[in-house]
Amino acid sequence: MEIKRGIPVSPGVAIGPALVVDTEGFRIPQRFIDRKQRRDEVQRLREAIKAAALEARDNQDAISAKLGKKYGDIFAAHAVFMQDQTLVGEMEALVKEQDHAAEYAVSRVIRRHAKALESLTDTRFSSRAADLFDIEKSILRHLLGERGELISHLKEPVVVLAHDLTPSETAALDPKMVFAFATESGGRASHTAIMAGVLEIPAVVGLGRFLTDVSGGDEIIVDGNRGVLILNPDEETRKRYEQARQVFGTFATGLTELRDKPALTKDNIRVTLHGNIEFPQEAQHCLERGADGVGLYRTEFLYLNKKTDPTEEEHYEAYGTVVRALGGKPVVIRTLDLGADKFATQVEKSHLERNPFLGLRSVRLCLRNLTLFKTQMRAILRASSLGNVRMMFPMVSTLLELRQCKMILAEVKEDLEEEGISFQRKLPIGTMIEVPSAAIMADEFAREVDFFSIGTNDLVQYTLAADRTNETVAALYNPGDPAVLRLLRMVIDAAQKNNIEVSVCGEMSGEPIYTMLLLGLGLRQLSVTPQNIPEIKKIVRSITIDEAKKVAQEVSRLETARDVNNYLREITRRILPEVVS
Ligand code: PEP
Ligand code: MG
Repeated sequence: MEIKRGIPVSPGVAIGPALVVDTEGFRIPQRFIDRKQRRDEVQRLREAIKAAALEARDNQDAISAKLGKKYGDIFAAHAVFMQDQTLVGEMEALVKEQDHAAEYAVSRVIRRHAKALESLTDTRFSSRAADLFDIEKSILRHLLGERGELISHLKEPVVVLAHDLTPSETAALDPKMVFAFATESGGRASHTAIMAGVLEIPAVVGLGRFLTDVSGGDEIIVDGNRGVLILNPDEETRKRYEQARQVFGTFATGLTELRDKPALTKDNIRVTLHGNIEFPQEAQHCLERGADGVGLYRTEFLYLNKKTDPTEEEHYEAYGTVVRALGGKPVVIRTLDLGADKFATQVEKSHLERNPFLGLRSVRLCLRNLTLFKTQMRAILRASSLGNVRMMFPMVSTLLELRQCKMILAEVKEDLEEEGISFQRKLPIGTMIEVPSAAIMADEFAREVDFFSIGTNDLVQYTLAADRTNETVAALYNPGDPAVLRLLRMVIDAAQKNNIEVSVCGEMSGEPIYTMLLLGLGLRQLSVTPQNIPEIKKIVRSITIDEAKKVAQEVSRLETARDVNNYLREITRRILPEVVS
């Protein structure tokens, strides 16, 4: 048994067999076939080898033309190797005589030969082992297809283990087939992590290296509450986690009773709990959890698996679905926040940036591409006539940027008016506060908008200069850091002074340990991943605002993120022992 610790990003406990995905392709599960399939499996193996050999010949021609015959010959040797009758005979024998799946047969035979070569002291031979691994990869790619396709077409439930998963790969996971996932890299507010919450798949990221210690089919436990991964658990641990899974399940079911109760503190102060969504169908998740509305609709997911920009109608259809489903409850539609670790537009794909988190992302990109921006604004405005819509701009760093956004919006409104298309003239406009410059200038910003939504995911990253997706700086990336909390206080105070609404929509607002602090700082509105709504409501209903204020006061005296988090964890554990360890 091996225990690894990482960053919990989506709650729940799961136990199941591993499917290991490495950076280049798939590690091979030790899979067996039915006797009756032997002939078909041999055929599948032969076809894959043939395709891989053809590919090697193509590479030979291309590389010879580009770099010279000497280099092209490497691929010629690959093609010869792949069709070596001894090698192929050994692979086929494993299928025909021992019922091994083709992938496993390829891996076993090639790795055995590669190991033998590696053990030779003469480097002329030992370096050939690398060629064999290349050949293995190439044949496996033909047997297994692209990794994205494979993980999105699973036939049996598994725990997915990977070095990393992109947000689109994660979005393609089927929650019925993936009990949980765990990755070596990634941070607590990466979009892969957010996607895990959306799909409600328990997940742990940022575990550091572990893939070399695990094989496909090994039993795995993922504890998404505490950020623990266990490889090959012993009997006692397994039993303990079976129980933990049940306890968590009962606790989660118990929370559903809160659905129709208001988020009211013990001293009768009403807190508004909104949901964060990425896909239109999630509007339903919000309603099922008793949300008061949608506080953040991330629209960049319209770009998922798309080669071209979405049309106005595609935008409108998505927004219309959400607005109608919410039936009069507010829906905050955020304009495109593309770039960095989110999906790319055609413009971005053609322009590689050295530092994408500080580059042409989000509203900066929209202001450079007015067709894109105006198309989306038209759709949002049109959807505003269907219900209670608000528009919000992300990643605004300066007042000038905000004013430019508002000017463009005014132009779009005029166009619609001229065309006789109906929309809400007084649609509330808000800005995200997620860049330190905007937090510092919050007082000025507050005079120009109807509401603020604090994006702590980015605010933490930019305040502490710690990449939100990078596990090696995960200890620095901390919403409880006193520097971040000072900025939060400034923004909340500015909003109150100017009499505008303020909410937090970063992942911090869905983490139970921060609820009391946020209420104590003066917030009365939070927007969280729908699955976190019941937990947060439970805390709200268990405290008074006076208690929350005392917590905020106590925290303001602490000097490090570690002290803040330890203190908050301690007091929250008393209310929610099931989720706070
Ligand atoms: C944030 O930065 O906190 C936020 C909510 O926006 P996103 O996570 O989409 O960048
Ligand atoms: Mg953000």
